Amino acid sequence: MKTFEVQTTDGAARAGVLRTTRGEIETPVFMPVGTKATVKTLDPHEVEQLGAQIILGNTYHLHFRPGDELIRDLGGLHAFMAWDRPILTDSGGFQVFSLRDTIARVDDDGVAFRNVYDGREARFTPELAAQIQANLGSDIAMCLDQVPAADVSARQLADAVRRTTEWAARQRNAPRADGQLRFGIAQGGIDPELRRRSTEEIAELDFDGNAIGGLAIGEDRAAMFEVTDWAAALMPAEKPRYFMGIGDAEGILEVIEAGVDMFDCVLPTRTARTGSALTPEGRLNLRNARFARDPEPLDPNCDCPACTRFSRAYIRHLINQNELLGLRLLSLHNLRFVLELTSGARAAIRSGDFASYKRAALERLTWDS
Ligand SMILES: [Zn+2]
Repeated sequence: MKTFEVQTTDGAARAGVLRTTRGEIETPVFMPVGTKATVKTLDPHEVEQLGAQIILGNTYHLHFRPGDELIRDLGGLHAFMAWDRPILTDSGGFQVFSLRDTIARVDDDGVAFRNVYDGREARFTPELAAQIQANLGSDIAMCLDQVPAADVSARQLADAVRRTTEWAARQRNAPRADGQLRFGIAQGGIDPELRRRSTEEIAELDFDGNAIGGLAIGEDRAAMFEVTDWAAALMPAEKPRYFMGIGDAEGILEVIEAGVDMFDCVLPTRTARTGSALTPEGRLNLRNARFARDPEPLDPNCDCPACTRFSRAYIRHLINQNELLGLRLLSLHNLRFVLELTSGARAAIRSGDFASYKRAALERLTWDS
């Protein structure tokens, strides 16, 4: 059986299935982020009940706390966190390069930095990124990439593209866990020439899947979507395409329309922790006084544990009193919202209605981007 199969296309949008050793994933798929081996505030059982098919773990954080060897010795990340469905681990590249102040130097061998936990100097190389992810035993491992800031010079961007390809070629030859898939990541920002070059070079290395990295990091949003449109089309059609780091409703629908199959973001759970709910009309800030006596659920059409039992007024009270249940209920709801939006998109692709599904969703979204 093929690892990945596109079942239906609707324009450039695709509905497919990705097969891993821990089960099949229907795409397009949103992947909740469990940075430190937990989707914040939620029990893995709840995450599964919400409809999550795969979650993310984080190489950088788990390497330093509690340590990937410790996790390996306790049976791997799935056993450690009691999640038996697929896990994708990112390579740590994004974390290292987004914590810019901690970087000591970047050279062709790897990147030296001070870790955020105790400030000790550490070094990531493609070989170490492979080894950590093998220890974690994830189902999909990502290549170490150099993620430049959105505002770097063309020369620095070109350097990052070259290094990202060289590192990917090295990681390709490094050992991995049994059955573990490995995805390459293209860089190049929104520079047409560099993005094209990176996308083609990474595709050439023939990974199990390909990712669009280094976008959604503060560049112009319209330019980001435009790049995604043509960059996705340059990626091999027979392999899964992963857009790293998008989770708002508009962004999800845009990348799906471009032919992206997988995406992740901390947005649903992070938004929950700021006291806001994602709804089809936009973001509800529960701290707003207008919800003080509101008996309605967050979203009357949502079937999540928060919406089926609790009112906006109650959740607002919990948030205002910093009660942990408030964060949990908003996390449950926000994840359910994003997972439902994505599975609705999949259904629409399968029935050839994606364009109208997207238009209707964006028309309802009137309060926020
Ligand atoms: Zn809900």
